[in-house]
Amino acid sequence: MRLPRLTQQLLLPLCVLFALLGALLLGTAWSFANNAGRHLGADYLGFASEVVRGQQDSLHIQQAIDSLVDNPEPLHQQQSLERLWIIATRQSSIHQYLSRSALPKEDYQHILDEYRVLNRLLMEAEPLLAHSLNDPQSLARLETLSDQLDDTLAFIYSELQHQVFTAAASQQQLMQRLARWIIALALLVMVVIAALLAALYQIARQKTLVEALSVTDELTGLNNRRALLDQASRLFAQSIRSATPVSLALIDIDHFKEVNDQYGHPTGDRILVAFATLLKDVVRRADVVARIGGEEFCVLMPATDATGASELCERLRRAVAEHSFHGQAEALSITISAGVTTTRTDTAPPDDSFAALYPRADQALYQAKQDGRNRVEVG
Ligand code: GH3
Ligand code: MG
Ligand code: MG
Repeated sequence: MRLPRLTQQLLLPLCVLFALLGALLLGTAWSFANNAGRHLGADYLGFASEVVRGQQDSLHIQQAIDSLVDNPEPLHQQQSLERLWIIATRQSSIHQYLSRSALPKEDYQHILDEYRVLNRLLMEAEPLLAHSLNDPQSLARLETLSDQLDDTLAFIYSELQHQVFTAAASQQQLMQRLARWIIALALLVMVVIAALLAALYQIARQKTLVEALSVTDELTGLNNRRALLDQASRLFAQSIRSATPVSLALIDIDHFKEVNDQYGHPTGDRILVAFATLLKDVVRRADVVARIGGEEFCVLMPATDATGASELCERLRRAVAEHSFHGQAEALSITISAGVTTTRTDTAPPDDSFAALYPRADQALYQAKQDGRNRVEVG
């Protein structure tokens, strides 16, 4: 089946839009799966504040050890031990932040190496602190250790600070990029929906048009044979229910071939259109009018007996004969012949169908032609 032209025209843009949408979706999913998901999930704010706190550790341990060296008392010893413990605890929390971040391990491997140095210093400091109250040598070593701790912690936290700020900046960039992708996706989805709606609208319009064309005679706009048969079955069923007669008239333009031969086919067409208009004017609203052949027409008249039907045909015959049709320049006269018949209920079975009436009307029309044309014959 051939698609209507407009729908075909919409098909290519729709396919392109779908391809774009698919590419955009794949791109978003790919970029998210690759690193965006981890980056977005990472808590760089918490990480940064932990780093800031870590930067204070160096100062605090130095202060505690200095106080202990100046004043070797249990209080300072205890404070120094607590500071060591805080440094050790912070180390495990920093490890967790690092593993949950999207930072590649090779970027922070040197920090982990420095943590190993820090651990060695902490392990050395702990027993020295235990003996610090009564061992001046331990205190002297602690003083040196305190400087080494300071250097190591300073290196670790300045490196961490650099890493965290870089990661936080790329997280922000990523959020902005993702937001742009999502806006583009939403816009594209809207365009696709609009294109789909436009396609659906065109299809619906063309379907209605095709349906109308399939039951309409193109030249005159009257019903065609198919529409006549459809309506006839409904109309006859109704007449049986209401026990009313139906009449059928077949109308044929006389010597129409000569009109065509003399004035040309386009003039013939114009006369057919004008005749159809006249026909519609004469019949009642409930009557069904159709063009069933070249210059042959049919009128189906519900609730109309033989007298009424032949009166209507006679009225039409007179109107056509008196009408002046327009040729190219000159006025033309034409005549029609009609065969008319009505349902009969006294027959067994009753002939209350289109199939029963049609041959009788056709026979009457033939008779009208035989009897000299421009007349109505009842069959
Ligand atoms: P009769 O009185 O016996 O009906 O004679 P006629 O010439 O009308 O009958 P015939 O069946 O011999 O010719 C019908 C003519 O109708 C032939 C054809 O040229 C013409 N005709 C059929 N369809 C059309 C149409 O769509 N447009 C035009 N212009 N002419 C048509
Ligand atoms: Mg004919
Ligand atoms: Mg004819």
